[in-house]
Amino acid sequence: MTNNRSTDWNAEQSAELYRIRDWGAGYFDLSSEGEVTISAPCGDQRATVKLNDIIRGIRERGYDTPVQLRIENLLEDRITQLNESFARAIADNGYNAQYRGVFPIKVNQQAYVIEQIARVGERYHHGLEAGSKPELMIALAETRGTDSIIVCNGYKDRDFIDLGLRANQLGVRCFFVAETLDEIALIIERSRKLGVEPNIGFRIKLSTKVKGHWEADSGERSIFGLSIIQVMEGVKLLKRENMLHCLKMLHCHLGSQLPDIDNICEGVREACRYYTDLVGEGAPMGWMDMGGGLAVDYDGSNSTGGYSKNYSVDEYCQSIVRTTREMLDPEGIAHPMLVTESGRATVAYSSILLFNILDVSHFDPMALPASLPDDVHSQVAALFVCAERLSEENIEQSYSSAIELRQRVRDLFATGDIRLAELAMAENIYYGLMQRIAAMAEGLEADGKEISEHLANLRQARADIYYGNFSLFQSLPDNWALQQLFPVMPLSRLDEKPNREAVIADITCDCDGKMDRFIGRDGGPSKTLPLHEFNHGDDYCIGVFLVGAYQETLGSLHNLFGDNHAISVRINADGSFDLAHEIEADDADEVLRTVEYESLYLFNSFRNRAEKAVQDGRIAPADRRQILADYSRCLSGNTYFER
Ligand code: PLP
Repeated sequence: MTNNRSTDWNAEQSAELYRIRDWGAGYFDLSSEGEVTISAPCGDQRATVKLNDIIRGIRERGYDTPVQLRIENLLEDRITQLNESFARAIADNGYNAQYRGVFPIKVNQQAYVIEQIARVGERYHHGLEAGSKPELMIALAETRGTDSIIVCNGYKDRDFIDLGLRANQLGVRCFFVAETLDEIALIIERSRKLGVEPNIGFRIKLSTKVKGHWEADSGERSIFGLSIIQVMEGVKLLKRENMLHCLKMLHCHLGSQLPDIDNICEGVREACRYYTDLVGEGAPMGWMDMGGGLAVDYDGSNSTGGYSKNYSVDEYCQSIVRTTREMLDPEGIAHPMLVTESGRATVAYSSILLFNILDVSHFDPMALPASLPDDVHSQVAALFVCAERLSEENIEQSYSSAIELRQRVRDLFATGDIRLAELAMAENIYYGLMQRIAAMAEGLEADGKEISEHLANLRQARADIYYGNFSLFQSLPDNWALQQLFPVMPLSRLDEKPNREAVIADITCDCDGKMDRFIGRDGGPSKTLPLHEFNHGDDYCIGVFLVGAYQETLGSLHNLFGDNHAISVRINADGSFDLAHEIEADDADEVLRTVEYESLYLFNSFRNRAEKAVQDGRIAPADRRQILADYSRCLSGNTYFER
């Protein structure tokens, strides 16, 4: 292993480079020895544990990376913080009703996570939100006590509604949030049939446009909810059916990951206007649900950027409570119970993806050939001249010429005018030239000179590819699908200067399976991540933080890479930790079953092939035994690279 420890680099510089204190929210830090630490609330105290100690402990117990590591204390702390912040805001503002949070199950449906939320949430009457029948079944089984509520969103059919009505009979307060007029009619019909009164909420499409990733889908363009006209139709329908007394909740959801507190206040003001007028129409109301949206500062920039936020949890709660009061008091409207459906802010921090680097590809500048053969095609020669004449003055021109000349050479190959050997020579010159242009552009940028965007983007073309033992599609689907930023950093050698710029490829054989958006030094996005020189055999582990929300749920079996080991750890006040819950990674046969392959069928089919090979004299009978044993072992083995 190369040792680049130098006196001009220390852990503090790594902390700044990877911005751990900006996105770490007080949970994650870097010690002066270069160890990533987790500061975990344990009752009234906090305990600090080295992440590498946890990884070592997990490995000693037989679980190798990739691992989804969950820290129970962090999840508990998030629920506690949210509820206590609302309680403080309610007390500070003289608000006359309470807060009832609900966790949207879709954000992390893993049984152990939901159980934990239900257990910790019990003391705050924190309930659950369900968007489908299976989620409602989970909510009905997990919700504790009779003071928590269940909020049913999404399209609801007869069975969904019947299940919610039955829950009301059992003393569980279940709200049906109506998304369409037809749904209101169905709720009325089923409630008459079963003789159970429903708690109805209207989901309103607010016109407030919000900043952030989902900007285009906010306001009137939002997919779900009732338009102004439909709200009035719904009121008329309930009046006609003598069921207006069942309309108890106003619901809205401005969007997920709302970065700007001003948008949230604006949304609350608009929601309060609807609330006031629904009370005016004679509905009892009593509940106002502002949906999800409490953001996570993924990039630590504390800004209105798409993966950040410009407010704290306290400011969020104060804003909702204060604005509601300010809007309703002048109208003489009683304060409603306040509900929010915070998903990502509840679970994001508690989960870390850990994977090891397997290999690396370097793209260091290639030497230009000293000369070209005399009979080389003129276009290849022109590319060579372009490379030889590159200078800071003609850098832009050289860049455009290189692209043009390379295309011409490729066209010549397609028409048979040059041969493969000449094409390869041209490609070599082209790559060498581009790498020199990229290096020169970086130098100019470092000297404070302005460079064009395409030159700046070349940094990525020079970046190493670090191959990580994970699947982006399984473990970080939002990085792939939405280009979402997550904090990523190495977990070792943090007292050593990272002297390589890298993108990280996963082990699916898909060109989309790569991470090439990271948090840059200035907090903005960067196409590369500084990493340390990697040598084959190094134990170099990468952590991707804040991945508890949506990632586990949306992950897919692309290339049939299954779930990682999911290990839940509880950190104790004395700094020790226990493995509280362990789920082993999917075996190959479990994954194969999801695509309707039974391992017995596969094994038998392969055995027939092996037997045929014995009969044909290709292998000896003893080889057959070994080959089948290997096949069988793979069927019950991990889907990821095993060391
Ligand atoms: N509630 C509803 C209706 C949603 O659609 C969502 C997600 O988009 C949420 C809650 C959770 O949002 P977040 O994770 O931003 O808190």
